[in-house]
Amino acid sequence: MQILLASPRGFCAGVDRAIDIVNRALEMFGPPIYVKHEVVHNKFVVDDLRRRGARFIEDIAEVPDGSVIIFSAHGVSQAVRDEAEGRELTVFDATCPLVTKVHLEVVRHSREDEEVVLIGHRGHPEVEGTLGQYHSQRGAIYLVESLEDVAELEIEDPAKVALVTQTTLSVEDTAEIVLALKEKYPAIRTPKNEDICYATQNRQDAVKTLTDQCDLVLVVGSPTSSNSNRLKEIATKRDIPSYLIDGPENLKKEWFEGVQTIGLTAGASAPELLVTRVLERLREWGVTQVTEPKGVEENMTFTLPKELRLVNKTHSVE
Ligand code: SF4
Repeated sequence: MQILLASPRGFCAGVDRAIDIVNRALEMFGPPIYVKHEVVHNKFVVDDLRRRGARFIEDIAEVPDGSVIIFSAHGVSQAVRDEAEGRELTVFDATCPLVTKVHLEVVRHSREDEEVVLIGHRGHPEVEGTLGQYHSQRGAIYLVESLEDVAELEIEDPAKVALVTQTTLSVEDTAEIVLALKEKYPAIRTPKNEDICYATQNRQDAVKTLTDQCDLVLVVGSPTSSNSNRLKEIATKRDIPSYLIDGPENLKKEWFEGVQTIGLTAGASAPELLVTRVLERLREWGVTQVTEPKGVEENMTFTLPKELRLVNKTHSVE
């Protein structure tokens, strides 16, 4: 058996920054550090931070006065931000700047009394945070997940409507929904640049390339990770068996019967250490060759909150 490694894969700049913020806050203030929601959707990362003193909570009311609270990479609604800022808390914002960019689009549209259609997955924390940026009394923000939702959608004033999307969607599925929205609302304003982020796009493109050459695709990522699920779906839609795994402990020998070439990738919240461990296990099971075809190079980095910049990076899960 041989393995083709997807490139790029794993940590994106937003995840790297969010984990770094929690690590530096732990170093600067000591435990416990409170984090609103899992800082990134990866079990290994969250378990590691929890062991070292991070406490993941859903409700700001659970955080004692005087504590440090960090908002996760997925972002929060304006109501949550106001609640935290109205308390005696030290707040650090680990929202990915590319999610913040979508928040600012929603704020601008609501300031102009335009209604907004958000394409995203109901219940995902990023979607909750983005819905919670809309504040116009004269309109509404509508969530659509599918073509059926577009068919049922009723906008008050089709001449004043704008579109935003979740950052980690399937590029292909979203294109279909955008097309349906443009047919139904020809005046809909779309973002200047895509809301789907560079990391999501690059990881999906890399998996598409792999599916031309593999019998099976493994995606290292947690079931809660939106972008990891989308990578698995890309392979499944092309009739390539695909499995989402948290690590080597989830691998099953029977998956590999008759398989010659395995494609291996990792979602944007999955550390490279887990990919290494999966490779080690698969070598024990008969993989003799690992190749990494050249992919798009990523050089994106995001700056840290200035109060945390002077603290040394002391811990890494990469
Ligand atoms: S997947 Fe994209 S939007 Fe999400 S944290 Fe990474 S760079 Fe930011």
